[in-house]
Amino acid sequence: MPVSDHVNLEQFMEGVKKRNPGQAEFVQAVHEVAQDIFEFMADKVEYHEAQILRRIAEPDRIVSFRVCWEDDNHNIRVQRGWRVQNNNAIGPYKGGIRFHPSVTESVLKFLAFEQTFKNSLTGLPMGGGKGGANFNPKGKSDAEVMRFCQSFMTELYRHIGPDTDVPAGDIGVGGREIGYMFGQYKRITGRWEGVLTGKGQEYGGSQMRPEATGYGAVYFLQNMLKHQGMDVEGHTAVISGSGNVATHAAEKITQLGGKVLTLSDSGGFIHDPDGIDQEKIDWVKNLKNVKRGRISEYADHFTNASFHEGKRPWDVSCDLALPCATQNELNEDEAKTLVDNGVKGVSEGANMPTTLDGVKVFHDAKILYGPGKAANAGGVAVSGLEMSQNSERISWNHERLGEMLTDLMEGIHEKCTEYGDQGDGYVDYVKGANIAGFKKVADAMLAFGVV
Ligand code: NDP
Repeated sequence: MPVSDHVNLEQFMEGVKKRNPGQAEFVQAVHEVAQDIFEFMADKVEYHEAQILRRIAEPDRIVSFRVCWEDDNHNIRVQRGWRVQNNNAIGPYKGGIRFHPSVTESVLKFLAFEQTFKNSLTGLPMGGGKGGANFNPKGKSDAEVMRFCQSFMTELYRHIGPDTDVPAGDIGVGGREIGYMFGQYKRITGRWEGVLTGKGQEYGGSQMRPEATGYGAVYFLQNMLKHQGMDVEGHTAVISGSGNVATHAAEKITQLGGKVLTLSDSGGFIHDPDGIDQEKIDWVKNLKNVKRGRISEYADHFTNASFHEGKRPWDVSCDLALPCATQNELNEDEAKTLVDNGVKGVSEGANMPTTLDGVKVFHDAKILYGPGKAANAGGVAVSGLEMSQNSERISWNHERLGEMLTDLMEGIHEKCTEYGDQGDGYVDYVKGANIAGFKKVADAMLAFGVV
């Protein structure tokens, strides 16, 4: 059958919408990928015949489960947990766990779908998955978080394993939560094995994992700038978020001679015209990870800074923008404002932070734009290295891991330019990442036949 007789993009997306009612985030993520893949597949009948994209857009399985726990006042609380195992064609499922009240099946499906392409791009043998629960760790005591994590793992443990599915952290899941979950897995199974990444360094964690996503997003930005003869040094940067990814992105920008002007959380953003230097970043890390405070407190402590309640930072004039908080946090109007203010490069530490309309604005203006699936792949890449270290019972030092991360990000940038070069010097990194990520997974699936 000629390629032209197969479904086109519109028909394909109609089907995706019909099969996934009410799952806007998932449909959005599939649409973003499908537009590039249909173009790429135009003359490749084998991918059409084997329904490869349709199969990648249908998770291998989704496990949904009840998570009961008792709060400090002895109330019984009930949450819903999920693990979405999207695709394991090229390696065990791999992807983080998110604890946030906004978590739904749609959000986790979009993240697991994206993760499949991202993990492929790293060049490491990892499939795509994602999990989480609609649990809000904010305002909970350590004991409450521990009881929740233990209850969550009491169900999850039967679906994961070092060669099956290896979860990690994400929003609301940091070192504390990974520790509680790993302890519970070990208690139930009686096995010490590399079933989670992002572990503490005392028990098999990688020395570079906490920094990897944020640093990697800046390395990707550095590669994009270098490709156009520019550098981070001397440039101002606007960053959203104040968690793991945002603080480490800020750290690397500062180390490379850039000046970070903003950070944010769900309450609003802070603008520090003096720049957020290493000392201030350490203060924010302590505020967020130890005191579990709010970013508004920054402006009380550093009095030259201002706090903008309920606002996002994108109207602060800057050269570089790094959305590092959450999905759909940068819309079309905000993208226009960034472009009008002269932004040169955008690198996504978060997953799908820019809406589809926002991405179009960056592309139309030919702004360097690194999508999350490429720009924030440093985190999962170092997770892949943590898996290798655990299997081999070895440990690489910080310096060695730093070199490997730099090389991995350079490799991802190269793959994106291979498929995204538009011939006029502009690189469409979305297209590059989508095609390079897709091709490896698709070819593996073709080799397996119909499974
Ligand atoms: P953290 O929980 O450490 O930090 C999340 C930050 O984003 C917090 O400042 C949080 O503010 C803010 N935030 C969360 N939800 C919202 C919202 N709805 N509106 C505004 N701000 C919000 O998470 P991470 O730093 O780990 O993750 C950030 C992003 O990076 C996510 O998109 C994640 O998927 C992505 N990512 C993370 C990786 C990792 O290694 N950790 C790997 C690859 C991608 P508040 O405290 O108020 O909730």
